[in-house]
Amino acid sequence: MSRLLLSGGTVVDPLAGRAAAGDVLIDGERIVATGAPGTLAAGDAEVLDARGLLVLPGLVDMHVHLREPGFEYKETIQTGVAAALAGGFTSLACMANTEPVNDSAAVTQYILDRARIAQGARVYAIGALSQGMKGERLAEIGEMRRAGIVAVSDDGRPVMDAALMRRALEYASMFRLPVIVHEEDRHLAEGGAMNEGVTALRLGLGGIPAAAEEVMIARDVALARVTGGRLHVAHVSTRGAVALVRQAKAEGLPVTAEATPHHLFLTEEAVEGYGTNAKMAPPLRTREDVAALRAALADGTIDAIATDHAPHHTDEKDVEFDHAANGVVGLETALPLALRLVAEGVLDLPTLVARLTTGPARILGLPAGTLAPGVAADVTLVDPERRWRVEARAFRSKGRNTPFEGWDMMGRAVAVLVGGRLVHDERPATAPALRSAS
Ligand SMILES: [Zn+2]
Repeated sequence: MSRLLLSGGTVVDPLAGRAAAGDVLIDGERIVATGAPGTLAAGDAEVLDARGLLVLPGLVDMHVHLREPGFEYKETIQTGVAAALAGGFTSLACMANTEPVNDSAAVTQYILDRARIAQGARVYAIGALSQGMKGERLAEIGEMRRAGIVAVSDDGRPVMDAALMRRALEYASMFRLPVIVHEEDRHLAEGGAMNEGVTALRLGLGGIPAAAEEVMIARDVALARVTGGRLHVAHVSTRGAVALVRQAKAEGLPVTAEATPHHLFLTEEAVEGYGTNAKMAPPLRTREDVAALRAALADGTIDAIATDHAPHHTDEKDVEFDHAANGVVGLETALPLALRLVAEGVLDLPTLVARLTTGPARILGLPAGTLAPGVAADVTLVDPERRWRVEARAFRSKGRNTPFEGWDMMGRAVAVLVGGRLVHDERPATAPALRSAS
């Protein structure tokens, strides 16, 4: 296999917490060495000029809805993977709320086979927690584990039965799988379309209280304590939720959490004008909640940024707010938004990259997130100065439901390698092509 030298970029190592000028040498599918600029014996390797670019471990998105099988009109594995690569993600984990639900080895196998055909990003499957995601009986977790799932979750359907959640934590821990939870008490959230508060009152929309999320997290932390099971809280959205996760971690419980870019950047005020692209579950909250999420991302209480990429057809969003589908797309806007957190001084670049790589990789047990010699050469090259404007119609995703339409972004993945293969390339045409090392 051929050798490739990524030359002269700023190499970000999230494990060492370092960003420094350096070279990365790839042989075939693997990284073989990293070193100071010009120090690696590259021999006859081809050279990719990475000057001016950030060289990151391929990004990992642990929470994506790829919609296939069953909802191919919203997204397919093929289009979802293309969107992921355009956004700089080389590994993603897809949720089980397909049709049929991924609650059996057969569906898991189907998804992984389709992903292999799509070629590009590495796709990992998350199995349903309960049969049909009905919240009644446990799904075939052991069988799905053998087929390759990396976590279990009824994401989108909060598990209201505490005894079922207890059994899920017990059973999943036998297979060392995390249980990913969408924390929202359905009774408290019933009739709600946005965050409960003055904005909802003014707009005449039903509210979902912060407590709907917090009571469920408190319950499941208690169950994690009893069972020793690994609990991962998806899309944390409130200050109180952050406090509960922080407390659980301080106690030494195996509890982790993620936050989405939209919850890190938008408040309930985005719902003004009834923009249905501001409708999601959990809902956008308040300024204080956003501040708490950002602080938690910086101090490690929140382990990962995850997009919760949820493509919908225009018809499902182009309706009254109350009736619109929940969720927004996120794969193609997450990276520049994340970089903005660094620009705003919320956290430093290596820490941010950790939340997009080692953080989620550790939770799911994925062999991803580092540029260490010997690992698969999944690399995301980012032009931090590239300016562009979000235009949903230009997305690779079939979903157009972004709340960031028209936002001016700075920073973009311009080249993406998976297993040493250049699978996405949007470097300017004037950039020197691959050339042989002298
Ligand atoms: Zn989701």
